[in-house]
Amino acid sequence: MFQRPDDAVVLFDGTDLSKWQKVDGSPAEWELAEGTMTTAKGNIKTLETFTDAWVHVEWCEPDMPEAKGQAKGNSGVYLQGRYEVQVLDSFGWDVPGLGDCGAIYNQYAPLVNACKPALEWQTYDIIFRAPRLADDGTVVDEARMTVFQNGTIIHNNVELLGLTGGPLDENVGAPGPLMLQDHGDKLQYRNIWLVHLPLKGSDEYDPS
Ligand code: MG
Repeated sequence: MFQRPDDAVVLFDGTDLSKWQKVDGSPAEWELAEGTMTTAKGNIKTLETFTDAWVHVEWCEPDMPEAKGQAKGNSGVYLQGRYEVQVLDSFGWDVPGLGDCGAIYNQYAPLVNACKPALEWQTYDIIFRAPRLADDGTVVDEARMTVFQNGTIIHNNVELLGLTGGPLDENVGAPGPLMLQDHGDKLQYRNIWLVHLPLKGSDEYDPS
């Protein structure tokens, strides 16, 4: 699938949590083991902030056969700390909804169910376009996302409806961090990186 580009900013390579902190700015306390980190003691966010970016995240759902719905392996990947792509064990569900894995929480269900079963590693590759604001601070273009789950496209450049629930802040004109949700379930994460994207392409044409 996607290889990490040379210009990627590595956010987690399995060795330490130096690129992460709790939402209050104190040191992250997720559990490190065998190249992974496991949810513990609240959400964590990156020190790195971004505007437009390609974000790559890998996670593994715990095996919770008795759990149902939102209680089954819940976590989340928040772009800029403000827009959640849901992480949940939705494997095998015919029609995933607005709160299921791959959903942009409570806004857009995934186009298809691309989930793997619990205990298998999964990937998100998220192409995030930050909101564009006018000089007076009003939002002219809302945030947009294209999302691949395990290499399958599950969101095609959708325009968001604003913030999702539980954002880090509402300062939508500012760069923001990547935030991972600790919803109380024990999820593992690994191999997290992002590539900053230019806010616009060149308008120059070289005919030579
Ligand atoms: Mg969640």
